[in-house]
Amino acid sequence: MELKTLNEVEINLVTSSKINQVDFENLTFGNIFTDHMLVCDYKNGAWQMPSIVPYAPFMIDPSAKVFHYGQAIFEGMKAYKDQQDAVWLFRPDENYKRFNKSATRMAMPEVPETVFLGGLKKLLEVDREWVRKGKGNTLYIRPFMIATGHGVIAAPSQEYRFMIILSPAKSYYSGEVKVLIAEHYSRAANGGIGAAKAAGNYSAQFYPTKLANEQGFQQIIWTDDATHTKLEEAGTMNVFFRINDTLLTAPTSERILDGVTRKSVIELAKRENIDVEVRSVLVDELVEAAKNGSLKEIFGAGTAAVINPIVGFSYLGTYYELPKLENAIALEIKEKLTNIQYKLADDTFGWTV
Ligand code: PMP
Repeated sequence: MELKTLNEVEINLVTSSKINQVDFENLTFGNIFTDHMLVCDYKNGAWQMPSIVPYAPFMIDPSAKVFHYGQAIFEGMKAYKDQQDAVWLFRPDENYKRFNKSATRMAMPEVPETVFLGGLKKLLEVDREWVRKGKGNTLYIRPFMIATGHGVIAAPSQEYRFMIILSPAKSYYSGEVKVLIAEHYSRAANGGIGAAKAAGNYSAQFYPTKLANEQGFQQIIWTDDATHTKLEEAGTMNVFFRINDTLLTAPTSERILDGVTRKSVIELAKRENIDVEVRSVLVDELVEAAKNGSLKEIFGAGTAAVINPIVGFSYLGTYYELPKLENAIALEIKEKLTNIQYKLADDTFGWTV
């Protein structure tokens, strides 16, 4: 895919870079940001000229609607550097499309491709030194949009700010992940905003996740809100189950985020002749498979961790441990996917840009 370049953008560079103060070997995920950020405002019904400026706090009216009504959306994607120093994005058109889908659901204006993808390309050119070579090094990209229009009246804002910030990251390892299957709380409901990457979806997860953490679980596997019988997502990732030699994952719906990693895993697994079934997986089915030994793996799939293996789950007070496998499909797929992202393997799918 061609990234449409941005012809008009105001660029105001930092006078001195802070890159030499950064310890790239010891990064906490999402904590350090590059020298520059992209800013583009929407007012009087139109997007204004974007600018690339030094990363810094900015002023915003206390009555801005983002603070009161949560009109806020975001994306998460990564840039990688290959051995020849070229910088690559992974399926950025998917993030762009999903961003505008989220915008529509939250009654926010769509962002033009030239601003989102063209602006991102320009910003990456400016901060390209921050993308480090070597597998495991990435630059996490956070595009987001907030309602900046003022007034404490519950109606869509007339003004918005779109921004992109960049954060260098090492490959994400979250330690052993044990999950709790949701019996009461839900992250999304039919007709709700679960399929949008809306800020409120994440804050709504914090409290149930905190309760799970207190019980020794790192994440929650979300179930459908109506019956709590269908397995839907793991924390902020899509979720896969391996029963015997078949990979299972729920179909996307109004309650499930259409993950870029999820759809890539499905396509990769099919190419590797692994059986994949996209269908609802019932909690009962999972418990039964854990009891009879046919449940081999559970893993989360998302941009930050790529693939996050899960070591066991708890349901109705019983903990079920997963077998420790030498030849886990999760790790095989992670290796294949990251090799494509770092250009260490042929990208036969045409995913890298
Ligand atoms: N589900 C949710 C709720 C998420 O926040 C994410 C992370 N964006 C995902 C799934 C995985 O999506 P992706 O593979 O596009 O990062």
